[in-house]
Amino acid sequence: MNNTITNVINEEVHSSEEELERVRKSLEIAKGLIAERSKDAGRKLTYHVTTFGCQMNARDSEKLSGILEECGFVREEDELSADFVIYNTCTVRDNANQKFFGHLGSLGPVKKKNPEMIVGVCGCLSQEKSARAKILESYPFVDLVFGTHNVFDFARLLVMVLTRENTKGRGSTVTEVWDDTDMIVEDIPVRRNYKFKSGVNIMFGCNNFCSYCIVPYVRGRERSRTKDDIIDEIRKLAADGVKEVMLLGQNVNSYGRGLDEEISFAKLLTEVGKVDGIERIRFMTSHPKDLSDELIDVMASSEKICRHIHLPLQSGSSRLLASMNRHYTKEQYIALALKIRERIPDISITTDIIIGYPGETDSDIDDTIDVIEKVEFDGAFTFIYSKRTGPPAASMPDQVPDDVVKKNFDRVLKKVQDMSTKRAALIEGQIRDVLVEDINRQDPSLVTGRLSNNLNVHFPGDSSLVGQIVDVKLTECKGFYYIGEKV
Ligand code: SAM
Ligand code: SF4
Repeated sequence: MNNTITNVINEEVHSSEEELERVRKSLEIAKGLIAERSKDAGRKLTYHVTTFGCQMNARDSEKLSGILEECGFVREEDELSADFVIYNTCTVRDNANQKFFGHLGSLGPVKKKNPEMIVGVCGCLSQEKSARAKILESYPFVDLVFGTHNVFDFARLLVMVLTRENTKGRGSTVTEVWDDTDMIVEDIPVRRNYKFKSGVNIMFGCNNFCSYCIVPYVRGRERSRTKDDIIDEIRKLAADGVKEVMLLGQNVNSYGRGLDEEISFAKLLTEVGKVDGIERIRFMTSHPKDLSDELIDVMASSEKICRHIHLPLQSGSSRLLASMNRHYTKEQYIALALKIRERIPDISITTDIIIGYPGETDSDIDDTIDVIEKVEFDGAFTFIYSKRTGPPAASMPDQVPDDVVKKNFDRVLKKVQDMSTKRAALIEGQIRDVLVEDINRQDPSLVTGRLSNNLNVHFPGDSSLVGQIVDVKLTECKGFYYIGEKV
């Protein structure tokens, strides 16, 4: 019986259309298997997805949830009591790996008590051979491991887990990780975390190979979705109540390369802006080397594109930028940022900065501080360089000692915080439109919303406001967020 089931869905496929057909078949089979298990249990089976890392992973997790709900699982907030727990992992920094393994280890005793629990691991970490070997060797209670390229195939993998003969110990883990793919499979079920906003992948992978970064190795080569597929998805989202979309890619500015149709990211944005019902458009991330004047023009003239751009700097030192393979200099970055500020005066510019890259000196840090002062970033994620194996920076000479990194990190962080506080205060007292996202977690008499420029504001309100765009007076700046009142 088990072989008959898996034979149907394990035949070779050669195209995205055939893959989609196989996904449909797998979903049907998984539904039947879950229905049987639910009947035996006398209740619906539950799932919990734990997400580590970036917006891409958050979006993949919505796909995992969509597939699980389509198969008959219901969401469970408590990770430890779910029937199926799946970890969608990140591996950008080594401490993300450590954090994940610690987390996974603490699940061991839980699974011992409840052997029926199914445990899955997917995402960037499982793409790495050594991390995968560690999972299979040290955490044999994990039932399923797959990677970033076959999320769409999750239903088939689930069937493999549910029908396998060997269910315990080493060798029992269903493992399917692809090195790369050029396929994009559309129309996978999705369970959105928010009714009124959604991420939309416009491209996958990355071709840039920044010298410190693992992403190109675990997310594969860059490939764009077609404009029609993207617009089709956004129209459906708008019809389903979505007001804000976040277009996702590792470098959205190179969107369109490799497609038959000639299309730039700026043109795609123009098309997205035409979709009725979509009131706000965000995107992430913009690589400075590919940011065009056409994009600045489209942003400046659009009512819908949010007044925020995330433009990772990484370092202010031209010498380090060259070593990082970033393809811009300190001066080019500053000129670009100031051009954006001039064309779109109310824009907020945020960034990523790495401290402690190999060979970094005090004078390189001075350059980074100089860029922060000249650009006046509205916010920045500051990261201590993580010497991850894989990318070439890990084997470069002149790794910076921890105490020096710590001192430099504190210096940069202080400058970033001073600058973002100064920038945020500029709009105190103004009335701004705010998309209300949630009830405030600390104080349920407040709601939390986001300004077009990405700042958060908390103000008195109730759940009826969630999902609405309302005018709010920004009464008190608290540094990196606001207290306000609805007008
Ligand atoms: N594609 C985006 C870009 O180029 O801006 C960034 C994606 S990456 C997941 C997010 C950020 O992680 C990067 O901008 C970089 O600052 C940081 N990062 C990547 N590798 C790192 C490493 N080895 N150590 C510390 N930070 C790192
Ligand atoms: Fe990593 Fe650079 Fe690609 Fe961003 S552009 S994902 S930092 S390699």
